[in-house]
Amino acid sequence: MAQTQLQAAREGTVTPAMERVAERENRDPEFVREQVADGQAVIPANHNHDTLDPMIIGREFATKVNANIGNSETTSDLETELEKLHTAVHYGADTVMDLGTGSDLDEIREAHVAHSPVPLGTVPLYEAVKQAGRPEDITKDLLLEIIEKQAEQGVDYMTIHAGILAEHLPLTDGRKTGIVSRGGSIMASWMEAHGEQNPLYQVFPEICEIFAEHDVTFSLGDSLRPGCLADACDDAQYAELDTLGELTRVGWDHGVQVMVEGPGHVPMHKVAENVERQQEVCDGAPFYVLGPLVTDVAPGYDHITSAIGAAMAAQAGAAMLCYVTPKEHLGLPEEEDVRDGLAAYRIAAHAADVGTERPGARDWDDALSEARYAFDWREQFALALDPDRARSFHDQTLPGDNYKEARFCSMCGAEFCSMRIDQDARADGEMDALADNETDLETSPAAEVNRPPVGTHASGDLPPMADHDGVDRPAEAGDD
Ligand code: SF4
Repeated sequence: MAQTQLQAAREGTVTPAMERVAERENRDPEFVREQVADGQAVIPANHNHDTLDPMIIGREFATKVNANIGNSETTSDLETELEKLHTAVHYGADTVMDLGTGSDLDEIREAHVAHSPVPLGTVPLYEAVKQAGRPEDITKDLLLEIIEKQAEQGVDYMTIHAGILAEHLPLTDGRKTGIVSRGGSIMASWMEAHGEQNPLYQVFPEICEIFAEHDVTFSLGDSLRPGCLADACDDAQYAELDTLGELTRVGWDHGVQVMVEGPGHVPMHKVAENVERQQEVCDGAPFYVLGPLVTDVAPGYDHITSAIGAAMAAQAGAAMLCYVTPKEHLGLPEEEDVRDGLAAYRIAAHAADVGTERPGARDWDDALSEARYAFDWREQFALALDPDRARSFHDQTLPGDNYKEARFCSMCGAEFCSMRIDQDARADGEMDALADNETDLETSPAAEVNRPPVGTHASGDLPPMADHDGVDRPAEAGDD
């Protein structure tokens, strides 16, 4: 049986996947191996995912971003789902979760694996509910059957809601918003109906054996995450976290890679506490957080409320951020929502990498600032996180080619452009000294995700994305 990355690392083997992530992170392959061997980082890489370009998730590496895609009862078809995958990869998702609950789930999942250069995650419980018809009709055999099928299909990591236990349920009684995790509500409903312990907890060792065979990484679900600020850090959340710590060690004992999911909705002053507690309880296993949203009052803008929490969590040690789109709490996101959500989260991840002084992370900022001060508009657009948006916003008011060298933009206007005034006021020779200070991104020690362009994966295998802004997007690596 082929080894998992964890088993190989423990034996002292540097695998090709470890070599590749070391190259992408600008780190020593031996350091990568040590981090994986100690469970401090994971490389989700199912043996059956042939199109994967491996990446690593761990607090010692650049912060990663996940995007959720997938159909619902009312949408969609295979081509649309592949377009969504392309959109997510194009805008910089490091992993993608297929949360589909509609039709043709197997066909769509297999196509995602066949085309995706990034690790693919799923929540097998959703398919179990769909097949069973009602949460209470799920059986342990059905859960194992679906998990094994998805592992054979090449899924790289799965959210398993095994941490919510029967004894935790009364702890949610005083909450404002009860259980907001889909998987958590399904498992709670099953336990109430059967008067038994969580079936995923009961079969956890069998799940470990399936995961070890295919090298599927656990993403231990936080079924009792708070759904509002008032419920953050309560007894229910932390009781489940203790179980997730126990399950982390069970996974490791089976040679399986583990990361742990986290909240949710958390006020700013408690974000770091959440990360530190998870790191302690789960022995440093990578923390994969959804947001957290730091206020509940802004539906329609929850990519912003949550990106604030995500940046703080990453600075405190969270390894991967699950994006939230402006449609959170309101509806299924569309392409523009995916774009906005990913931009918010790439900003959060990069800001945290700068804030934690990852090697070379700030070089990108410096290069863009130099282009800005030099009024090199084309270079500024090229270096922007979202070049199309930067260019189109500029061109809304000053579209002409002559404005691409202009020493002002429409924000302050020519007369009041502070950078022009500053430059004109400087003595001869001072600007030359500034020009000598140019950042060379080619030689930057930054990890791949901390250098432009965003979306560094080859995507030539994917159908084209839908047009946006009416602006030609720059070619990606691997584009036809
Ligand atoms: S006009 Fe204002 S915003 Fe525009 S380049 Fe000058 S200083 Fe910057």
